[in-house]
Amino acid sequence: MGDSLAWDKLKPWPGELVTPTPSSARAPKFGSDAVRERPSRVSRPLLPQARDIFKYLELADHNRWYTNRGCLVVLLEQRLAELIGQESWTVMTTASGTAALEAAILATVGCADADRPLALMPSYTFTATAVAAERCGYKPYFIDIDPENWVVDLEVIALHPRLKEVGVVVAVAPYGRLPDTNALKVLQARTGIQIVVDAAAAFEQVIDHPECISHAIPLTVSFHATKTFSTGEGGAVFWRDLPGQAKIAQSVNFGMLGSRESSAPGFNGRMSEYHAAVGLAMLDQLADRRQSYASVSNAFLRAAETRGLAAQVLVSPDVSSAYALFVAANHTDARRTQTALTAASVDWRQWYEEGLHTQSHFAGCEHDPLPVTSEVSPRVIGLPMAIDMASDEINDVLDVIAQACS
Ligand SMILES: *Cc1c(COP(=O)(O)O)cnc(C)c1O
Repeated sequence: MGDSLAWDKLKPWPGELVTPTPSSARAPKFGSDAVRERPSRVSRPLLPQARDIFKYLELADHNRWYTNRGCLVVLLEQRLAELIGQESWTVMTTASGTAALEAAILATVGCADADRPLALMPSYTFTATAVAAERCGYKPYFIDIDPENWVVDLEVIALHPRLKEVGVVVAVAPYGRLPDTNALKVLQARTGIQIVVDAAAAFEQVIDHPECISHAIPLTVSFHATKTFSTGEGGAVFWRDLPGQAKIAQSVNFGMLGSRESSAPGFNGRMSEYHAAVGLAMLDQLADRRQSYASVSNAFLRAAETRGLAAQVLVSPDVSSAYALFVAANHTDARRTQTALTAASVDWRQWYEEGLHTQSHFAGCEHDPLPVTSEVSPRVIGLPMAIDMASDEINDVLDVIAQACS
């Protein structure tokens, strides 16, 4: 009984286990011949197909080099940096977005010490933000967000009564909405406390506004399958600090750099050549993919406008292309919407739940009063979104919402 429960938890794949054969390899397309899925999943990633990745995998075979900053990882970093007109070292890849954040904390302020044990961060974020800080020894301390854009209010940080105990501030780009990075730099200079930005979902915002990448503040992104640009699992640190980036490489390599001596805190947070191969294939398709995402986002907006919901549906470029969010007017509408979506077999998700302070693992963490987080979080409902989502599926989802809120 206990064993079968544990096994259920270890086997998250809900489908049938199929042994791959070349003939079963299908190549779904995004955009044109969209396939409708029922029930619709809230996130239906579509990564590069095996045949698109193949030439890169062959390179790994040829090199007989599979991880530890191999050819493909370096090539991926180089091409990402070229994309934003920066030097190659501006981009340092990692095994995940969480690893990127953990490495950014270690490379700037290192592990927590007794004088400054706190990591100040919003409660309204994905749990990885706090997990990364905790792995570096910090106690998360949660602060509230701005009711308009859901990022942390910089004045709240500047005037925070616990500032003397804060070792690092982790700002967040909720759903890809970047905080004002120039204002963050000013705040960092003013308080003397290091800021790192969990920009996990903000890949597009970062590459479209490379001026946000600074020498002062590392930005970390996630290449998880549910994000817009993906290597399956993966992440990167965008930072215009060469010695800093060397420390990132060192942190994700057990604290070793160029020798076998661990001379700094670290862990295994490296990206493998296999993951880099997926990223390189993804880069080959980036322009097409962004166009497909834009079509789906526009279809959402048009469908919202027709139903008088334009102000309540958030898609790219306001947020990451990976999200379509419905912001209910109040908690009653939110509950009605959720119930109606579930009844219609439409998957939905509160991506950041109701704040990290409500998660059992972080329940003991100290926090400010969080009225905005409590008011906003139940109203933000993640809708199904996919690069190849069909417009009739989008219309159906918005019909359900319009009816629920009428
Ligand atoms: C996706 C996400 C992460 C985690 O990234 P991983 O690559 O899964 O480690 C962290 N923070 C935020 C805000 C995210 O959206």
